[in-house]
Amino acid sequence: METWEQLRDVQPVATRMLQNSIVKNRMAHAYLFHGPKGTGKQNASLLFAMRYFCESADPQSSEPCGSCRSCKRIQSGNHPDVHWIEPDGQSIKKDQIEFLQKEFTYTGLESNQKIYILSEADKMTTNAANRLLKFLEEPSQQTVAILMTENVGSVLNTILSRCQRIQFHALNDDDLYQQFVEQGIPETTAKMFAALNFDLADVETYNQDSWFAEARKIVIQLIDKVMNPKEEGYLFLHQVWLQHFQERHQHELGIDLLLLWYQDLMSYHLGRQDRIVLIDQTDRLKQFQYTVSLQETKACVYELLQTKRKIAYNVHNTLAMEHLVLQLQR
Ligand SMILES: [Zn+2]
Repeated sequence: METWEQLRDVQPVATRMLQNSIVKNRMAHAYLFHGPKGTGKQNASLLFAMRYFCESADPQSSEPCGSCRSCKRIQSGNHPDVHWIEPDGQSIKKDQIEFLQKEFTYTGLESNQKIYILSEADKMTTNAANRLLKFLEEPSQQTVAILMTENVGSVLNTILSRCQRIQFHALNDDDLYQQFVEQGIPETTAKMFAALNFDLADVETYNQDSWFAEARKIVIQLIDKVMNPKEEGYLFLHQVWLQHFQERHQHELGIDLLLLWYQDLMSYHLGRQDRIVLIDQTDRLKQFQYTVSLQETKACVYELLQTKRKIAYNVHNTLAMEHLVLQLQR
């Protein structure tokens, strides 16, 4: 578990605001935590809830003790007065908010205090949002709502106006890298994950994942094919690449990995070895700098970005990739 002090390194403004409201006992009835994924919103909610119910917190400090019964139950998602609500399928539905309200009409099991935390608040249906609005309009003294969203623009204005908005800023690569290393990810991998803009959930999914490990190998194999005029990039594309990268998000990840490699080649050409992400590829970069000039490398990066755009706009994967391989082939 992270502490406020640790969160403060990456989100100084948001953290200071929340720490102050806790220590001064001036908590809002409703907060809206907004910002890109992986920026600490979830952690801040957890810390906030733990501190709110902590049985042995120092009144002068905003940190929860982390080890009392309440702290432990909140961490494991088992506290009767802390409710987490997530989209049920594509959206947060009216039933979910109604169920929450019903729960709240009973007095708390442990106390009269309650906290509810809504992930992806922008995904509320209109009915759910209107229902929640009623709830926000009549706050009970001891209820705190925390709404989280990555798309603040999609949250109804009427809801926004009833929440104290706390912005969580996008992390830069260095912050992400530090975060991953602290999670025990080896430095080389952490660097790659940060450059791919992964959040902690992505890292959990892909670290030690055999699909991802294979994907990395295939990316390098494709590079070896297109760098060699005698090799058939096309054949490899159909026989290997398209078999492995099937879903759209997988394809996007494949392109991102190729992009990292070509961006590294560009750094190599520019003498910026310090910027290289795929450190384990240095020998290949050294070798291929003679195969592809800086100008050509730039053109390849441009093609990769175009391909990414095409895939995002639903151009068929096979078509987009065939065109790409043709452009990359030496
Ligand atoms: Zn505690």
